[in-house]
Amino acid sequence: MQADSTSRSGTGRPTDLIIFGGTGDLAMRMLFPSLYFLEADGYLADDARIIGAARGDLSRDAFLDEVHKRLKSHIPKKYYDADVWDRFAQKVDYKSVDATDGSGFEALAAALRIRDGSEAVFYFSTAPRFYGDLCAQLKAHDLAGPQSRVVLEKPIGHDLTSCRAVNDAVGAVFPESRIYRIDHYLGKETVQNLIALRFANSLLEPLWNANGIEQVQITVSETVGVEGRWSYYNDSGALRDMLQNHLLQLLCLVAMEPPTSLDADAVRDEKLKVLRSLRPISKQENALKTVCGQYTAGAVDGKAVPGYFEEGEGESTTETFISLRADIDNWRWRGVPFYLRTGKRLPYRYSEIFIQFKDVPHSIFPEESNLTLQSNKLIIRLQPEETIKLLMMNKVPGLGRDGMKLQEVSLDLSMSDEARSRRRRIAYERLLLDVLNANSTLFVRRDETEAAWKWVDQIAEGWRELGQKPKPYAAGSWGPSASVALTERYGHSWHD
Ligand code: NAP
Repeated sequence: MQADSTSRSGTGRPTDLIIFGGTGDLAMRMLFPSLYFLEADGYLADDARIIGAARGDLSRDAFLDEVHKRLKSHIPKKYYDADVWDRFAQKVDYKSVDATDGSGFEALAAALRIRDGSEAVFYFSTAPRFYGDLCAQLKAHDLAGPQSRVVLEKPIGHDLTSCRAVNDAVGAVFPESRIYRIDHYLGKETVQNLIALRFANSLLEPLWNANGIEQVQITVSETVGVEGRWSYYNDSGALRDMLQNHLLQLLCLVAMEPPTSLDADAVRDEKLKVLRSLRPISKQENALKTVCGQYTAGAVDGKAVPGYFEEGEGESTTETFISLRADIDNWRWRGVPFYLRTGKRLPYRYSEIFIQFKDVPHSIFPEESNLTLQSNKLIIRLQPEETIKLLMMNKVPGLGRDGMKLQEVSLDLSMSDEARSRRRRIAYERLLLDVLNANSTLFVRRDETEAAWKWVDQIAEGWRELGQKPKPYAAGSWGPSASVALTERYGHSWHD
């Protein structure tokens, strides 16, 4: 397999990556395939070691067999290369450990001590309730020294109080500079492209404010239901599972001021200011500015699907859909609505940032042309495809008796053709490489997670105090009709 043009050999330092939860869904579906691709592109050091760790009593061979089987079932056939696998497999090992009673940590520590001067990255891909135990075990076995870093999977808590408890437990062992909180949306190519688009071009900046922008929409729409994770999902819901992290992180990247550099703290300081500028949604405004819903039976992709509580363990008040209007109280964004929307069992799967610019102040075109005169839009698609498009008005070519006719054309600002023909990277590849290189720019700092929870908590609190129950919506629709009314109330409509 061809390495891409930016690849190089290794990260320059011998690094051990220990994946706690190494037999779990995330590790098998995302982390090992990403590491395999880093190996294929020459990013893993020759002497890198990757150790899967979980309670299962597995031999190294049995673990490798499972990783191999799952890898082949998850990546397209054309990207599998037996030579790369052989190289990669030599780096992979397995250790049986239990976070709660510490068994197996002695052997893990002994294996890691073999090499002096190496660095260790501990990736916590277990349920978050084990994060405190894992840190305590690492400390007790002398594995939390200055050469170690820790990666935390979401969710960091389920509200501000529990988030602080997780952060305190991890922070008691690792300083903040060595804690990497993952939000895999930040590893997506188009999300980083948004940073390039905003800060490597002077064209957009004068318009990037309340004078130039009419509205911003961020949608993460899923067609799937809860997929066998009902009890996990039922404890969280769309607000906590998706909006608190992914959607608010995207909002931060759209709304933040230009950072002084791409240094981790420079970027994260600016994101934090946005989170702190989010106007709290008061109890009085809650019903006007937020909509929560829960899917009932319906059809998605032409197939009949059951409702949320039929899939699970009875009735529930957990929301599987949320849409809301957020306002950012600062000079740049005063008055510009940021509509956020995410849900399950919606008509199709896509994630998108939609930015609508202001209308021209006065139209000089004949009346019939005005019917087609549209405001400019910037549409950043994160999935299923990764594209950036700018919609502009143009003249319909040719002669016409009735004067100039207008049409909307799309300028494609996506990657070059050469980049497009390359394999689309898994978001975790970027993030794993960054953590191996100790670059935390694309990871979320403690104060960001806490500021996001603080804002989200008051919405959930408002629902509770008002006795707001999720409104039903048929699977395969765009959520409750109140969600349509939410944008229309302010003179806008969803970009579906
Ligand atoms: P999972 O499939 O349930 O896997 C959990 C892993 O933890 C297994 O390897 C399990 O193996 C191990 N484990 C459980 N108890 C343990 C203990 N006491 N000590 C050591 N290891 C233990 O979970 P997952 O879906 O991979 O999710 C892992 C983390 O990623 C969670 O925080 C989740 O919220 C987050 N996440 C997952 C996804 C996803 O797509 N799956 C997406 C975003 C975030 P044993 O039972 O053999 O110990």
